[in-house]
Amino acid sequence: MIFYPKSYFNSILDIDVKFFLKNNIKAVLLDIDNTLIDKDNNMVEGLDEWVKKLQENDIKFCILSNTNRKEKAERMSKILDIPFIYFAKKPLKFGFKKAKKIVNIENNENIAVIGDQILTDVLGANRCKMHSILVAPVKSTDIWVTKFNRLIEKQILKQYFRKNNIEIDKNKCKN
Ligand SMILES: [Mg+2]
Repeated sequence: MIFYPKSYFNSILDIDVKFFLKNNIKAVLLDIDNTLIDKDNNMVEGLDEWVKKLQENDIKFCILSNTNRKEKAERMSKILDIPFIYFAKKPLKFGFKKAKKIVNIENNENIAVIGDQILTDVLGANRCKMHSILVAPVKSTDIWVTKFNRLIEKQILKQYFRKNNIEIDKNKCKN
């Protein structure tokens, strides 16, 4: 199912080195909004250490965000010391292709995409045959387009969670 993530985690910090090694993932493309930061631009605590630890295990990173605010993507890029692409228009493929060149990994299945939205992050990753990882949004206050998308996502997710017997973090998924 093109809308189902290959993996799901309650937080990005729950994804450990072992997971990446086991799944043969050599590079990670990161969404920003509600994945790395909340609506007030507060970064997930411990994110920089998480990135560093994976980099020590030879995992490459690139930010792949739909934000049209360059300074926002640039700020995250500086804090985490990784390259960035903004205004990526996920789920369109071109941003993913550009990011693939930056991380310089030959096979798409060795690239993971981490994000909080099915209709952009997961769908785009799946279309590119990359490893899609859905995380619960950092906080549930969204702009209206995202709110609309989440209504659709909720229905898809309900089926996905049921099918895979996944326990969700109810506090995070409350709308
Ligand atoms: Mg997002």
